[in-house]
Amino acid sequence: MTHIQNYINGALVAPKSGEYLDNYNPAKGEVYSYIPDSNSEDIESAYSAAEGAKEMWAATSKQERSDIMMRLAQLIDDNAKELALAESIDNGKTVKLASHVDIPRASSNIRFFATAILHYASESHDMDGIAINYTLRKPIGVVGCISPWNLPLYLFTWKIAPALASGNCVVAKPSEVTPMTAYLFSKLCIEAGMPAGVLNIVHGLGAKVGAAITVHPKIKAISFTGGTATGKSIAAVAAPMFKKLSLELGGKNPNIIFADCDFDKALKTTMASSFANQGQICLCGSRIFVERPIYEKFRDAFVAKTKAMKVGNPLDKETSIGATVSKEHKAKILSYVELAKEEGGTILTGGKEVILEGECANGYFIEPTIIEGLSFDCRVNQEEIFGPVVTIMPFDTEEEVLGYANSTEYGLAATVWTENITRANRFGAKLESGIVWVNCWLVRDLRTPFGGVKNSGVGREGGFHAFNFFTEPTNVCIGL
Ligand code: NDP
Repeated sequence: MTHIQNYINGALVAPKSGEYLDNYNPAKGEVYSYIPDSNSEDIESAYSAAEGAKEMWAATSKQERSDIMMRLAQLIDDNAKELALAESIDNGKTVKLASHVDIPRASSNIRFFATAILHYASESHDMDGIAINYTLRKPIGVVGCISPWNLPLYLFTWKIAPALASGNCVVAKPSEVTPMTAYLFSKLCIEAGMPAGVLNIVHGLGAKVGAAITVHPKIKAISFTGGTATGKSIAAVAAPMFKKLSLELGGKNPNIIFADCDFDKALKTTMASSFANQGQICLCGSRIFVERPIYEKFRDAFVAKTKAMKVGNPLDKETSIGATVSKEHKAKILSYVELAKEEGGTILTGGKEVILEGECANGYFIEPTIIEGLSFDCRVNQEEIFGPVVTIMPFDTEEEVLGYANSTEYGLAATVWTENITRANRFGAKLESGIVWVNCWLVRDLRTPFGGVKNSGVGREGGFHAFNFFTEPTNVCIGL
């Protein structure tokens, strides 16, 4: 079985402890590889490598940095099949989704930031004959990137690409739950000629490896994507150290469907926004509000389509619902179904774990689940479940549904379905949400600001926002 290695100073190395953790295939419920059980000593050596490379990398021209990253993007494309298969086995997501979304988006993240850096300009402020100011944008030095398990390579590259393109050296930690594609990626970095020390990938537990990055006095910026509770604990350590922090956290996204929507399009996209990746995308819409005149028609069609979804081996082409990521996560999701019953909800479809036959008999599968009859402010409608479980409820007025939509502590993304453009503009602007999709979902232009409001995060990623985060501005004022 593969022993995953850390990638430090340009080489694949074993953890200092010599210890490894089990890595599970969630579709089979069995260990299939081992993850380095790294600790603060590994982070220290990753930091030293990054520190040693930082002046060289910052002095490398943007074009050279871009060229190396473009080679890396091409290598992802060249190895897309192997990476998609690895992502599916490691995470439980369908190989179809990994092939169409995760892996292509990983290479486009790298391509995007590799080319964007060539067009990144800083400001100049002219003081009418008194002075002229210009802003230098300098790399921070060594930065930390910590990413989650739900879109492993996709979100890993989303963080490291802007950090590297803007001239920083990186100490990165992928989720211990899904380390495989970051490991394969580190091999591609070597093949692409990434200079030693520029990117360092340390695997292991969040509480050890992630915490060691957060607390490291010389790692001056942390870009983190993960749960709100983890984000809070990172901020508690990093803020008093005056680190720059970008936190992309949890969500409880509303999907608001007005009676004047394009019904078929809304239904089809709601299937995806509810159950893609087993509902384990931070942008999935988990609370569905439908205007009363079409409520029953929509609900019945949605339930019928959901019943027809095939839960199965993620490697089968016909499978639309793969495995949830871990045994613990499966138990957490199912506990919310029980809570929904206690809170008075009716399970319209799903609600149970699925025991498959054959090699996936011990996998972590859950039926796609729709729950009706809950109040907007119950726990199931307020807390992030992060699984194939959605609630559905009717509404009568715009004001009423706005209150429902904005009632949670989160504000990551919202989806609105209406053919009335005036309403879309008026209503969209009132949503407390970092992203509002109207008549679409998960459409991503990488130039746009990405991030949440309220407890869904601090800061924005994407486009030049990411470069602004990963650089320090210095204003130079020249008297005339
Ligand atoms: P976690 O917060 O559990 O973990 C995220 C990362 O942080 C992992 O690499 C984890 O390591 C690490 N970590 C855990 N504890 C610490 C710590 N004390 N210090 C530093 N790092 C730590 O999130 P999940 O991986 O469970 O991801 C799911 C969450 O991510 C959901 O809440 C989801 O909404 C959110 N998310 C947000 C997105 C956004 O853009 N806003 C996008 C995608 C997901 P390890 O796994 O090894 O423990």
